[in-house]
Amino acid sequence: MQQVETISEMRHAVADARSKGKGIAFVPTMGALHEGHLTLVDEAKRVAEVVVMSVFVNPLQFGPTEDFARYPRTLDQDAKLAEDRGVDLMFTPTQADMYPEHAPVILIHPGSIGKEWEGAVRPHHFEGVLTVVAKLFHIVMPDVAVFGQKDLQQVAVVKAMVRDLNFPVGILVAPTVRDPDGLAMSSRNRYLSPKERELSLMLSKALFAMRDAFVRGERRASALEAIGWRMLERVVGLTPRYLAVVNADTFQRVNSVRHGDAAVGAIRVGETKLIDNIIF
Ligand code: AMP
Repeated sequence: MQQVETISEMRHAVADARSKGKGIAFVPTMGALHEGHLTLVDEAKRVAEVVVMSVFVNPLQFGPTEDFARYPRTLDQDAKLAEDRGVDLMFTPTQADMYPEHAPVILIHPGSIGKEWEGAVRPHHFEGVLTVVAKLFHIVMPDVAVFGQKDLQQVAVVKAMVRDLNFPVGILVAPTVRDPDGLAMSSRNRYLSPKERELSLMLSKALFAMRDAFVRGERRASALEAIGWRMLERVVGLTPRYLAVVNADTFQRVNSVRHGDAAVGAIRVGETKLIDNIIF
């Protein structure tokens, strides 16, 4: 595996692969890698000869009171995991190289898809995500980029950006990887004490209960949401942030639920905010 830090080195490495006629698949991450990230690499390897992974904790997508400073940075371990899984090129740009003027003047706005849910709880988050993804796409110029279903609203805004701004990049989505007890893997899970981890499990349980009710024939979004809310509200020490049934492309609430719609939820446990979703 080749590890490169500067944008110009990255462009050279990609141009070299391209000149050999190789296709490029890209997996953007913020590091602190876990099995969820690594399954994106598996997906990338299935579709292209060269897999590029970026590790960059993007300051632009964190709010002023969020965990940017303490976000886990485990670069040596990440490099080993990425190499073992078959990443060819690892891109670890510095903040100074990505944002030489500190904050960029031009930002990409997520529009109505990014307004509610994560967009409401984390103002400007998706603006930061889309801006860094657009920059990374322009640097790496991949044929395909792979994202996780775990961040479903992110998937929706990225797909819309690619469509509306004509990025020549295919977007693949890999299913959410969970611990055996159902907790969606997340770099932020390492913040949780054993007790907090136990409480956090209720989010996936609530989403699974909503899915079970759908499978049994319930189609009213309000009824499904009520099932999930009841489960979250009875856990002392857990603060529900949102739980809603939405169209997975537009992220608008639906009334009558169809296959392909999603239930999205967020909770806070102690200082940690966690998100999860299921697709009906
Ligand atoms: P992050 O490092 O949290 O920005 O995530 C980088 C990519 O990994 C995003 O596309 C995430 O959706 C994806 N990802 C994170 N956790 C998981 C998971 N548990 N299962 C599948 N993909 C994930």
